[in-house]
Amino acid sequence: MDISKTSEQLIIDEFMSKLSGMRQRIAELEVLERELKQSEELFRVLFYSSPIGIYIIQDGHFRLVSHQLASISGYDEDELIGMPSLSLVLTEDRNAVRTNAVKMLKGEHSSAYEFRMVTKRAEIKWVMETVAPIFYQGKRATLGNLTNVTERKQAEEKLKQLTAEMQRSNTELEQFAYVISHDLQEPLRMVSSYTQLLAKRYQSQLDADADEFIAYAVDGAKRMQALLYDLLEYSRVGTRGKPFSLANCEDIVEQAMANLKIAIEESGALVSHNTLPTIMADEGQLVRLFQNLISNAIKFRRQEPPCVHISAQRRHNVVTFSVRDNGIGIDPQHSQSIFQIFRRLHTREEYPGTGMGLAICKKIVERHGGHISVQSPGEGSTFYFTIQVTGGESA
Ligand code: ADP
Repeated sequence: MDISKTSEQLIIDEFMSKLSGMRQRIAELEVLERELKQSEELFRVLFYSSPIGIYIIQDGHFRLVSHQLASISGYDEDELIGMPSLSLVLTEDRNAVRTNAVKMLKGEHSSAYEFRMVTKRAEIKWVMETVAPIFYQGKRATLGNLTNVTERKQAEEKLKQLTAEMQRSNTELEQFAYVISHDLQEPLRMVSSYTQLLAKRYQSQLDADADEFIAYAVDGAKRMQALLYDLLEYSRVGTRGKPFSLANCEDIVEQAMANLKIAIEESGALVSHNTLPTIMADEGQLVRLFQNLISNAIKFRRQEPPCVHISAQRRHNVVTFSVRDNGIGIDPQHSQSIFQIFRRLHTREEYPGTGMGLAICKKIVERHGGHISVQSPGEGSTFYFTIQVTGGESA
């Protein structure tokens, strides 16, 4: 303490120092007040002009509501204040809303939940809500926000209906293809056997035209049998498939090669493969898939002996297989269409076939949740298809 100062001087000094402290405190409070006003303003703007319905619920009743909640529900803001919040919820959805809201308030789950709102005009609207615990006017309360998702829900519903309809019509089509290809086989077998009998018995006994006509009839019947047989196989991929089980792809390729033994030997083809994985699949269908691709690689060859190489690459849960050949290649403009049924790029005189092989491959791959494509950069073609390792059978 400065002993040279009088006691009055000391009191004045102390007063001045307190005064300056108070001034500083007042300045700080003014800043705080300004900030509080700004944040209140921000809350007000957000609360009232947000495109989302915002509200505060206390003791189960609306205490504060935004214009948007009024506009979604069709009630005036005044009507909403004091109204039980659950009265906007369709009776059947109330329990779920209560459970979800409690879980969210406790922090047990964080994703928004959906429910059906009943508007003032008794319309049903789908809304999505999230809630958070707050204090309002010194008491616990819930801050909720809600969006109208009716259009999205209706679009989802429509999509579901369309998918169900598509599945139904696909099943009907498969059934239809199955029935015609199955039921036509019997009469066709008769036509085929009798035309062949005619050819055998009356060859050279009638005139040259007759021989030619009979040969056409025999050939036509055989072709029709092959087409029906493949169509039947195609229709069976979805309906007669076996449940998926662990399948070793190396064994599968070996089996496909065994089935193609004669074609491989006659063409002098070299078929090789890398290490192939074990996956969940319908083994019989995978044999068919590899067999179709390898046999095409052999059939559509150039002068030199065919070289076919199969490899597989795994990424996460998906294996991408490739079947590469050194054959005639495929014009990129046909790289999609060749997977359609009965689609061929050559005449039967050039290369035999029904045009069903790749369509069957596509259906098998899709049943296994995958996708098939082809690339033909210059020489040869490479067919790629994906399969889910753990078995992603699609309906
Ligand atoms: P198909 O073999 O009975 O003609 P696919 O459905 O198996 O019927 O094949 C459709 C068409 O795709 C074939 O006619 C052929 O033009 C083309 N194609 C398929 N595989 C190959 C391949 N490895 N190389 C070249 N062309 C191919």
